[in-house]
Amino acid sequence: MTGTLVFYSEFDDFEQWKRLLQREIPSLDVQQASTVTTPEKVHYALVWKPPENFFQRWPNLELVINLGAGVDALVGRRDLSDIPVTRLSDPNMARMMAGYVLFAVLRYARDIPFFEQMQKQAHWQYRHPRAAEEIRVGVMGLGELGRKTAQELARQGFSVTGWSRTFKEMVGVECHHGMASLSDFLSRSDILVIMLPSTPDTRGLLNDQRLATLPHGASLINVSRGDIVDEPALIANLSSGHIGAATLDVFEHEPLPDSHPFWAMENVLITPHLASVALPGSAVKQIAANIQRVSDKQPPLHCVDLNRGY
Ligand code: NDP
Repeated sequence: MTGTLVFYSEFDDFEQWKRLLQREIPSLDVQQASTVTTPEKVHYALVWKPPENFFQRWPNLELVINLGAGVDALVGRRDLSDIPVTRLSDPNMARMMAGYVLFAVLRYARDIPFFEQMQKQAHWQYRHPRAAEEIRVGVMGLGELGRKTAQELARQGFSVTGWSRTFKEMVGVECHHGMASLSDFLSRSDILVIMLPSTPDTRGLLNDQRLATLPHGASLINVSRGDIVDEPALIANLSSGHIGAATLDVFEHEPLPDSHPFWAMENVLITPHLASVALPGSAVKQIAANIQRVSDKQPPLHCVDLNRGY
């Protein structure tokens, strides 16, 4: 196989990806965008949030590989025509996400924020633990990451409900779908986990009115995209106590500005968008297999639908 793969990411290690890709496909030329001198030889692009007009430079591009699961940065771009776009689909990435959410859910289920407060006051305050099945966890989005997470939560004994766009069946998870069931789903989520992609249909979905349907004192965990939640409405609900606590890995504007009210809120746990990351060691095989397929004139696997947005 001949051809060049162009790499672009401000977050990922180029040298590591190059080494791993060339171990899988020794004949593949792997270059950073800034070093490419013959753009017409570029057939593959491995990218995370490339700048505007990035794709215009490569007239013979055949495959775009998104260096993550969420493709919202590739939607609605004028520099991307009909080239297939694939996403990472790596069980280890799903496991990492499930681990983060499990940590956040258990933290609330076991009242850990309360004990953290008590410790600051050197106060021994017993609070009787609740059984997992008494705690209702609602998972919004049952895709590759949401599904694995919902299964993991069910395995821990929580009462898990899932919500997606289309009908789903899952052992141990009560599944709902569509807008008609959203209000009921939210009203039964003591802990709400947001795992939806950011699309025109989901942006701002959790507005003030919908947050009001959560049970009083509910916890909210957002690990997908910040713009799915109306941030001012979330701040108001966290301040009033209607939402008791939030774990936020994603924000409308990242990095979260220094002056943002979330930083000072005691009932908010902030992490800087790392609930799950691309794991080169395991994801490289899927990427190499797709490059090989395209080189062999076969359709790639794990394509996303940019019109749908995920
Ligand atoms: P998928 O694309 O595999 O699945 C998306 C899920 O959301 C599907 O179940 C889909 O329903 C559902 N969905 C989409 N639109 C709607 C809608 N309008 N109403 C109801 N349900 C809807 O996504 P993943 O599980 O792989 O990932 C989810 C998101 O997590 C990514 O899009 C990304 O933004 C984010 N992410 C965050 C990371 C982090 O570190 N914080 C890391 C990786 C990803 P259906 O199945 O019926 O189509």
